[in-house]
Amino acid sequence: MIEADGLTKRYADKLAVDHLSFTVTPGRVTGFLGPNGAGKSTTMRLILGLDRPTAGSVTVNGRPFSAADNPMREVGALLDAKAIHGGRSAYHHLLCLAQTNDLPARRVGEVLEMVGLTEVARKRSKGFSLGMGQRLGIAAALLGDPKVLMFDEPVNGLDPEGILWIRNLMKALAAEGRTVFVSSHLMSEMQHTADHLLVIGRGRLIADCTVEEFIEQNSEQQVRVRTPDTARMAELVTAAGGRATTDGPRLQIFRLPVERVGDLAFENNIRLHELTALQASLEEAFMELTKEAVEYHAAVPAGAPAIEEAGKVES
Ligand code: ADP
Repeated sequence: MIEADGLTKRYADKLAVDHLSFTVTPGRVTGFLGPNGAGKSTTMRLILGLDRPTAGSVTVNGRPFSAADNPMREVGALLDAKAIHGGRSAYHHLLCLAQTNDLPARRVGEVLEMVGLTEVARKRSKGFSLGMGQRLGIAAALLGDPKVLMFDEPVNGLDPEGILWIRNLMKALAAEGRTVFVSSHLMSEMQHTADHLLVIGRGRLIADCTVEEFIEQNSEQQVRVRTPDTARMAELVTAAGGRATTDGPRLQIFRLPVERVGDLAFENNIRLHELTALQASLEEAFMELTKEAVEYHAAVPAGAPAIEEAGKVES
């Protein structure tokens, strides 16, 4: 369990994390979603005590992580997979970690097996591909068999097989009752992985809900119809309070539920060759919600007097 209360971090005049309060509970994958620069990595560093909050607090299993007796048994974190001594083999890297953290050496073989690196365990990690480096980072995170796992953008740069593997691993870890907290700026990725979402923009929490709730609350319902009588159908939609745009023989209809669109056609004797309720993707819902919160817009958003950013936009 991770609990943040009014967590705030300011760097000079930049408010990187702005009064975040949230709880990350065990047994499910919680996605930490936000555009680049939203404050995800800073929050994760604050959780791990690698940075000190300007205000507020955050605890892991009820106390600050810095007070943990054996940090690797408490939290496993993958923050920067490249932070590995390239001259060492995967085996030695993990063995060193195990020894300095008072963990049994047998865990090394176990985690290498779990991440599929057993065969290359004696090779220097310098020659590792990005995906192998990522697996090694995850092996290190799993070494202490921790109840809480945090991954910062774990699928960045991975091939489809690696992405699938990480997704399944996170789900399996959550199914074992662990707390799994994973950040991403890729909404489509979270849609496949997360059960619950914390969405942030400009350091602020803008949603704390399930993936389904997030899509439902933040996306406009759309219906697509195909009809030989697009003009008449569009008129009816407008008269009923909806909005329609034409796309050849199709109409894209907004603000009316699919049942209402079907009834309108039926009642007015209009033939439909297609009637589809479109489910907006998490990507669309996310864009909608964060469009005011994206850090570097093409234009300065209204009510955003930040001098530093205004300067960046103008330059
Ligand atoms: P994310 O992980 O969501 O991409 P970050 O937490 O890395 O976002 O960054 C949030 C904001 O804080 C950004 O504007 C970033 O430039 C700023 N920031 C992060 N770390 C520092 C630092 N050490 N010094 C100054 N500014 C920082």
